[in-house]
Amino acid sequence: MSNHLFDAIRAAAPADAPFILIPGARIWTYNDALALSGRVASAMDTLGIRPGDRVAVQVEKSAEALILYLACLRSGAVYLPLNTAYTLAELDYFIGDAEPRLVVAAPSARAGIEEMAKAHGAIVETLDADGSGSLLDLARDETTDFVDASHSADDLAAILYTSGTTGRSKGAMLTHGNLLSNALTLRDYWRVTAGDRLIHALPIFHTHGLFVATNVTLLAGASMFLMSKFDADEVVSLMPRATMLMGVPTFYVRLLQSQRLDKEAAASIRLFISGSAPLLAETHTEFQARTGHAILERYGMTETNMNTSNPYEGKRIAGTVGFPLPGITVRVTDPATGRKLGAEEIGMIEIKGPNVFKGYWRMPEKTAAEFTADGFFISGDLGKIDRDGYVHIVGRGKDLVISGGYNIYPKEVEGEIDQIDGVVESAVIGVPHPDFGEGVTAIVVRKPGASVDERTIVGALQNRLARYKQPKRIIFADDLPRNTMGKVQKNVLRQQYADLYA
Ligand code: ATP
Ligand code: MG
Repeated sequence: MSNHLFDAIRAAAPADAPFILIPGARIWTYNDALALSGRVASAMDTLGIRPGDRVAVQVEKSAEALILYLACLRSGAVYLPLNTAYTLAELDYFIGDAEPRLVVAAPSARAGIEEMAKAHGAIVETLDADGSGSLLDLARDETTDFVDASHSADDLAAILYTSGTTGRSKGAMLTHGNLLSNALTLRDYWRVTAGDRLIHALPIFHTHGLFVATNVTLLAGASMFLMSKFDADEVVSLMPRATMLMGVPTFYVRLLQSQRLDKEAAASIRLFISGSAPLLAETHTEFQARTGHAILERYGMTETNMNTSNPYEGKRIAGTVGFPLPGITVRVTDPATGRKLGAEEIGMIEIKGPNVFKGYWRMPEKTAAEFTADGFFISGDLGKIDRDGYVHIVGRGKDLVISGGYNIYPKEVEGEIDQIDGVVESAVIGVPHPDFGEGVTAIVVRKPGASVDERTIVGALQNRLARYKQPKRIIFADDLPRNTMGKVQKNVLRQQYADLYA
């Protein structure tokens, strides 16, 4: 009997060494986590949860919530985390779509969820941020020596819904093999060892905080500070006791706003990692000037885990997402013909490797449409591979602007605007235009007190961008709409400005 992913986690677990440290509160050793995951797995068995059953989890971040994930791996239940921001109406879609056997929710949400879950044939147990709730009440009386279910690499470990940045979230089916291969690859690529201590301030319902952060920590036998949410001041305070930070770009922007962030504060950190959304080159440069650290940017997605990473030892280049990870093939193709493109040519990024998911949950047609005949996953991201082999993301296929028959890659225009004095950041979108099909439109965030206006920007772009790429309108905003992972929601902007040229 073997359990592909959990056997590896168990083998790497350094018994009495710390796994999770809750700042100012308790320390969970690996043995503590193994024991409780056994009890929770036993409790789920008593509840009638069988291998392959989905366990949907919408709870606040806690050590117990991560241990519930481990319990699912052990029992063979399919872990299905849900964004804590989802409303009851949104949950109804996910529960109806995934048909879990068990829903684990916050005690305060029980009443509302119970009725809806019942309608979909699921039972409800609760788990609060402090570990209290009916799930651990049940687990208390159970045995710690749960016999792990047997699982091959191809068995389903989790269904993770995508962030819903470009449309309705899709359930990505991830196998034990997908998760283990990617975690081992990242552990080795980033040189993570038992001596590492990660600052974990990401949500745990997304691939970044759940799989990248947690699985890598587990497979290295390392430890992490589990913060309930990101707080720049608290992160700076923890830095002297930590060696790594994984963040979304907004973390780094906010850290730079902290006066306390300097070389000394970051002296014990070995590696700063960024992903989930593009890191502005300016953030990279400023962070390096302030701390002496070059942030390592990597690229991944729910469907594939991580695909590329800037190197640990080589040059980390701002504005790129680095090289394909070992064992993973990344290519760029012509979206119209599927022909493989050469260096520096922009096209669709396609991915193949042991990291690539099994398909979208109950969407066989969508799954088939997103794979090429030779088995590459069509990422939906546009990009290029430069002459040195670094991958660049230029934006999502769905965000490509087509104006007057020309393709405009938003990132190129945003890059030019962001360099202008007084500009913090920008988002370039295409909105319906009677003459051009789409009109290139820029939404720009200014630095406080900056005097830069539409004329300055138009003037600055004059000699830098071909005329068809220049925005027809520039709109100033206080900030850009972002989701919980710090991703700019261009569909929200497109809706907001849909009638701009009408
Ligand atoms: P949906 O698929 O539901 O529209 P989503 O694609 O935002 O949502 P995720 O799987 O969370 O959902 O995000 C993956 C996407 O995030 C990638 O396809 C890519 O567009 C973007 N991304 C991740 N890392 C980076 C990065 N370092 N630079 C640029 N984009 C990134
Ligand atoms: Mg996506």
